[in-house]
Amino acid sequence: MPDFGANDLDAYWMPFTPNRRFKANPRLLAAAKGMHYATPDGRQILDATSGLWCVNAGHGREAITQAIRKQAGEMDYAPSFNLGHPLAFSFASRLVQVTPKGLDRIFFTNSGSESVDTALKIALAYHRARGKGTKTRLIGRERGYHGVGFGGISVGGIPKNRMYFGSLLTGVDHLPHTHGIAENLFSQGLPVHGAHLADDLERIVALHDASNIAAVIVEPVAGSTGVLVPPEGYLQKLRAICDRHDILLIFDEVITGFGRVGAPFAADRFGVTPDLLCMAKGLTNAAVPAGAVAASTAIYETMLDGADAPIELFHGYTYSGHPLACAAGLATLEIYQGEGLFDRALALEPYWRAAVHSLRDARHVIDIRDFGLIAGIELSPRPGAPTARAMEAFEAAFDRGLLIRVTGDIIALSPPLIIEQGQIDQVVETIRTVLAAVE
Ligand code: PMP
Repeated sequence: MPDFGANDLDAYWMPFTPNRRFKANPRLLAAAKGMHYATPDGRQILDATSGLWCVNAGHGREAITQAIRKQAGEMDYAPSFNLGHPLAFSFASRLVQVTPKGLDRIFFTNSGSESVDTALKIALAYHRARGKGTKTRLIGRERGYHGVGFGGISVGGIPKNRMYFGSLLTGVDHLPHTHGIAENLFSQGLPVHGAHLADDLERIVALHDASNIAAVIVEPVAGSTGVLVPPEGYLQKLRAICDRHDILLIFDEVITGFGRVGAPFAADRFGVTPDLLCMAKGLTNAAVPAGAVAASTAIYETMLDGADAPIELFHGYTYSGHPLACAAGLATLEIYQGEGLFDRALALEPYWRAAVHSLRDARHVIDIRDFGLIAGIELSPRPGAPTARAMEAFEAAFDRGLLIRVTGDIIALSPPLIIEQGQIDQVVETIRTVLAAVE
């Protein structure tokens, strides 16, 4: 590693980070293997968040490293417009064996944000290509997180991610989020109450008329906003209403994909198939930045052959289907499948659930939510204090050798799918200790 000094802290404008607070006491990561990071001075940090919900197969997987190295030696880069390289086609073919049935066309991007903007644009272009060009309105959800592109923050519903950035896309509505129903507190798995909130889509349809609405986008389980698990039957209702009104349903599975919820995708676990599915993160085990949108054949073919079809999609990225990403992605899929990691996540779910819900009596805890290998632990707010309790818990946990994630007053957990039961116990006990010490 090059020499790193205190002066080196200045130039890097860190994303989604209070820079001054971080730089006053920088917490750095220098190496990673399996379930652990290591700090520059060699301290081991148990990773309970898979980096940023992305290193699903655990860190430093040799097969992925080798695949990247091999590909970099053979061909560093290939343009993806009017040219191709075999690995991109192989990766797409291999990927559609994992995506939900019917979603068998893959458009490559480089991130979750790009996947979201791509899916929104495909939805609009699809309607136009079949002569329904008035269907342009987009519907997101309060507290939704769909990355940081202008499309993503327009359909997203996290106030601070939107309020500094102008007027955003016009023609966007938001469904209510599904959080805050008192009877659902401390639900294990899917909450029972709240499926009726999907009916709000009918209100929006009545307001604008379905002939003007293109798509609805939701995270099946909202992650970054603090782990909001959908009420039983909610996603099924959304699907039915979309079908009734010829509205596309987009699932943003950037977090929930690749085993995170104990199935290849949340769509599989819930038995609800969207028309477009956004992915990233676990796609390459985060070893190379990559994302993708899976589309139905009907959408793909309409774009090529519809009444007003443009024949090609006027959209794409210099790095769509990057050779290193495809190499990493193919190796990643082999690990998921070879080690049965999606099934492993499902098998671990009951242990995980019992462990995280044992924090119910821990200090400051006002709600706990879980699904698959995700959990959200909500702490009572501390109005007026400069820093949320959860942020202090994050710092204290790191100093005790545990990486957790914080969003507002919520601790979010999403460990690599290779986690062992003993490590789950360690995660929970460290959080309990840390919460006892936070004021
Ligand atoms: N959608 C969802 C549901 C996400 O959780 C994220 C990232 N946390 C994104 C989109 C954006 O992904 P990226 O940061 O790779 O742009």
